[in-house]
Amino acid sequence: MKSKVYIETFGCQMNVADTERAATGLRQSGYEMCSSADDADVVLLNTCSVRERAERKVFTRIGEIRAARPNDRNLVVGVMGCVAQLEGQSIFSQSPTVNMVIGTRATDRISSLIERVREGERKVSDLGERREEESWDVSPVERHSPHVAFIPIIEGCNKFCSFCIVPYSRGRERSRPASEIISEIQKLKSLGYKEVHLIGQNVNSYRPRTEQGIEGYPGATPFCRLLRAVAATGMQRIKFTTSFPRDFHPDIVSAIEEHPNLCDWIHLPVQSGSDRILKAMRRGHKRSDYLEKIERVKNSTRQLSLTSDIIIGFPGETEDDFRETIELVEQCRYDSLYLFKYSKRSGTPAASLSAIVPEEVKTQRFLELERVHRRIQEDIYRDYIGRTLSVLVERQSSRSETDLVGHSTCHKVVNFPGSGDLEGEVVDVTITEAKTNSLYGTMRGSN
Ligand code: SAM
Repeated sequence: MKSKVYIETFGCQMNVADTERAATGLRQSGYEMCSSADDADVVLLNTCSVRERAERKVFTRIGEIRAARPNDRNLVVGVMGCVAQLEGQSIFSQSPTVNMVIGTRATDRISSLIERVREGERKVSDLGERREEESWDVSPVERHSPHVAFIPIIEGCNKFCSFCIVPYSRGRERSRPASEIISEIQKLKSLGYKEVHLIGQNVNSYRPRTEQGIEGYPGATPFCRLLRAVAATGMQRIKFTTSFPRDFHPDIVSAIEEHPNLCDWIHLPVQSGSDRILKAMRRGHKRSDYLEKIERVKNSTRQLSLTSDIIIGFPGETEDDFRETIELVEQCRYDSLYLFKYSKRSGTPAASLSAIVPEEVKTQRFLELERVHRRIQEDIYRDYIGRTLSVLVERQSSRSETDLVGHSTCHKVVNFPGSGDLEGEVVDVTITEAKTNSLYGTMRGSN
């Protein structure tokens, strides 16, 4: 009988994509994938280390999995992803019941690690580099959705922002060949996928070794050429995330204006509105540089939805610095904002800074900024009432049996009444109500 593997995924879309690729490889090696830790012979936790809380979650989860099957000596437990890469073999002493530590670039070697454990080595690890010839193919059955596909175009990070662990957990930037990305999208289109997300820590830093696949396309940067080449595949909806401000070229907006299938959403994390803090964060851009890029987004001939990330309470952040962040948020008027309290990550330059912002100040600032953003978001969302949005129906709503849920091209969550057979269809929904972080409406027809 085939061994069953269950992978539980934490963190960003890159981890979701790694899980999909790991599952594809495991199935090819003769394993069966299952959807619950209770049914599995091998449990893998694909982990995130961006903030301390995410990292702690993993160890709690390992405890729960072992506690549910205290006498099962055959159960193999592995930690993969960012925590595995960073903590390495020390995971074995922190959590002695872990059998495998699988780094971020070892996704295609998991089956041989499992075999080694089965043959009697109780603790195995692989923190090595990706093989050059590693396949990025993902079998459709392993994708997280039958309608929306994540396509990694670049992995790793060269930016070394002083707060961020990613360059250490995911290594240097490495771009996938454009020809491979294009053929993956063509395949997905023929399989009926309606939407793709080009993903990476910094998608707009895309820099492949050759121009193959984008050579016939205009554009100020390889990413702009890739956007136009991907648009030319005719895939119905194309989104991309995350963009890095310093590498955000205005030609990205021009490409969106030229191609209706490049969706009207840009995620551009700013992190802070204060030049002093941006410098300490080593972001490589000033507030004014960022605002200049936002101006191009706001002046686009298409109405583009804008979202961002902000870190509150970076070491040394004063009340004045925080006020500048509030002002920037009021100026940018984000459709959505992801707020994070600064979390010290050991090994990063910011970890040695001593001007720590007390937890209660971080909380107070967090709540204030959230209130400011909510007020702006309410206005933006209310403006959608009466408008008709094109929505890809993704699934039934978890809150109501009669409602469906999907995303608009501007990446808003939209709920509306409808029957399950519409899943996977793109439909027109007229918005009747604005809620916190979502819109509600009624369907007008399918496209
Ligand atoms: N590369 C993108 C950028 O910085 O422009 C985003 C990638 S990061 C994995 C996702 C978000 O997590 C960041 O934008 C940041 O707001 C947040 N983050 C990263 N490190 C953090 C830390 N040490 N404490 C709190 N939030 C953090």
